[in-house]
Amino acid sequence: QLSGADKKGKGKAKDVGIDYGHDTGFEWGKALKGQMKRVFGIDNFRLCQEGVCNANMDGRDIVCVMPTGGGKSLTYQLPALLGAGCTLVISPLISLITDQILHLREAGVEAVMLTGSMAKEEKYDAMRRLRLLAEGKLGPREGDAIKLCYFTPEKLANDKSFLGLIQKLYESGNLARFVIDEAHCLSSLGHDFRHDYQKLHILRKQFPRVPIMALSATCPPLVLKDLVKTLGLPPIVDGYNADDEGTVYFTSPLYRKNLHYKILAKPAKSAEMYQLMVDYILEHHPNDTGIVYCFSRKESEIVAQQLKELSQNRIRTGTYHADVAAAQKESLHKAWRNGSVRVVCATIAFGLGIDKGDVRFVIHHSISKSLEGFYQESGRAGRDGKDSDCVLYYRPQDGTNLVSMVATERDGQSKILSMLEFAEDVEQCRKIQFATLNPSETPPHRYFSQSSNLSIASWSTSDSSALQRCGHCDNCLRAQDTIHRRDVTLDTWKILKVATIVNRAGGKVTLSGLADLARGLGGGKFEVNQGKRGKMKCALDLEAECGGKVGIDKIEIEHLLIQLILKKYLDVEYHQTAYKGIVYIVPGQLAPTLVHLSRKDIETNARRKVEMVVAKGASKPRKRTRTAVEKDASGSSVLRKRKRGAGGKGKGR
Ligand code: ADP
Ligand code: MG
Repeated sequence: QLSGADKKGKGKAKDVGIDYGHDTGFEWGKALKGQMKRVFGIDNFRLCQEGVCNANMDGRDIVCVMPTGGGKSLTYQLPALLGAGCTLVISPLISLITDQILHLREAGVEAVMLTGSMAKEEKYDAMRRLRLLAEGKLGPREGDAIKLCYFTPEKLANDKSFLGLIQKLYESGNLARFVIDEAHCLSSLGHDFRHDYQKLHILRKQFPRVPIMALSATCPPLVLKDLVKTLGLPPIVDGYNADDEGTVYFTSPLYRKNLHYKILAKPAKSAEMYQLMVDYILEHHPNDTGIVYCFSRKESEIVAQQLKELSQNRIRTGTYHADVAAAQKESLHKAWRNGSVRVVCATIAFGLGIDKGDVRFVIHHSISKSLEGFYQESGRAGRDGKDSDCVLYYRPQDGTNLVSMVATERDGQSKILSMLEFAEDVEQCRKIQFATLNPSETPPHRYFSQSSNLSIASWSTSDSSALQRCGHCDNCLRAQDTIHRRDVTLDTWKILKVATIVNRAGGKVTLSGLADLARGLGGGKFEVNQGKRGKMKCALDLEAECGGKVGIDKIEIEHLLIQLILKKYLDVEYHQTAYKGIVYIVPGQLAPTLVHLSRKDIETNARRKVEMVVAKGASKPRKRTRTAVEKDASGSSVLRKRKRGAGGKGKGR
């Protein structure tokens, strides 16, 4: 019996780069396709699947980044079936593992899981069969050797007897490979860091000859680097031109053309917000399955309740978050699958590994903690390749609210800024914005350009259109004449003056506090904490300091403040009090460049100009296109546009 590692190098002559994606003549080529059809009923590989399978069959270390729903599972399940030995799959959540096991068993594949939640007998049986495999004692009638074994990282850390069993499998040459699903959880630089994943560094140390495969849907350059280092993998090499040593890297464009992204303005009043959401769902997705992601546990409960009430039970909702009891989660999953619950209102606890293909819409009631997070969460829509909507309700204040939530997270703040940049942008195509999450789609290839002697020419994988506009996101569909570029230098100068004065006086202002103050509201006073002497109100003479107030409306100034934060004219500062965290707005790194100028300078000097781009009408939901399409059989230009995006099976990327 050959383990994956023993087969190393069989692919091609050593001095020529191996192109796992295109080279033909791998000895296992026919068998792969045959099994794929026979076991999984799939006719053709998609994206980089074939290359990854080949590299897996060749016993390589692999990092594979493919969009959600792209079909990452197949890339190890197929090789696991074909090769000898058992493939061990590490996956973050039991629900995700259960899903996989169900699918595999349906396909007649021998797969087991080992988790804390399962019945004792079941566990013993799985362990027994693995032991038989390790001891070479599987009789002729037990041809059903386990090909795949799933477990969570905790299991590895906490279960010594299991670790011992893995050791036995290893020593007997029955350990085909380790697969780490959702591998971005390894890095604290990623958006979903999990401590237990860090333990996985032992894999290479303890089982040096076993190939490791890391899978993820989002793995930005720094996360990738971190992951490779933590796992102790050799340097990354291109899967389409690999040497004999490195970690073979594959990626597919993250862009999925069946997902239609749009950002809508979120009203300040929650009642209005709920009504908007109900109207949206009833108008566009009355009978569809969807997810509404919420900021907090409490919020997800309120939203679920409101959607139900305001729609008079026409929207059948359920709630999912970390505090929901396990049994309830289970029944929610069931209800969601059978359609008695259509819309799950949830925190991000819901999702990782949801395998429901027909999620027609994902609504974000608030922005995500990072752009990666948003990509992942919204990516749970349309996994079946059919047209689906990803809607984000955005208001600037949510940005600062979030900052307090991630105060203790590594890089928490800069991740939120990436999300805010996305949300504030009314021009750039969403697809192009997402492309920054994937090193292969980002020229210059940031990750690779930093590491030496790597010529990653695999950008053939991402089709050449990767950086062309998608043509169907909100920004692509926005009429040019609705976009206005405004010179806001004077307003910015006033705002920075105000922020600087407050700061010098030892005062603190929140986003909305600063907005009000600059607009001459709140009696023109701000609060200064005097320690033991309590709080004192300080007056601000806007007329004298900057010749009058800022004359734009509340919502616009809040957008401007966020944009000024992004441009580093302002900054956020987090304060923890006994009761809660508060986020204050303070002058940023670049504030001095403007503040020291006089008003006259500002008005006459064109050298330092601050511009704000606003989309007129962006504050109202745009007239929907889909319903028009569905109702209007005669068709419209919008219809044609959307039709192109309407991917059939396997095309919807
Ligand atoms: P992810 O990359 O998110 O882990 P999965 O592996 O769960 O995606 O696959 C998503 C869906 O796509 C599954 O239902 C799977 O059966 C299907 N699938 C995978 N590969 C193919 C393919 N080559 N052609 C058609 N369907 C596929
Ligand atoms: Mg998956």
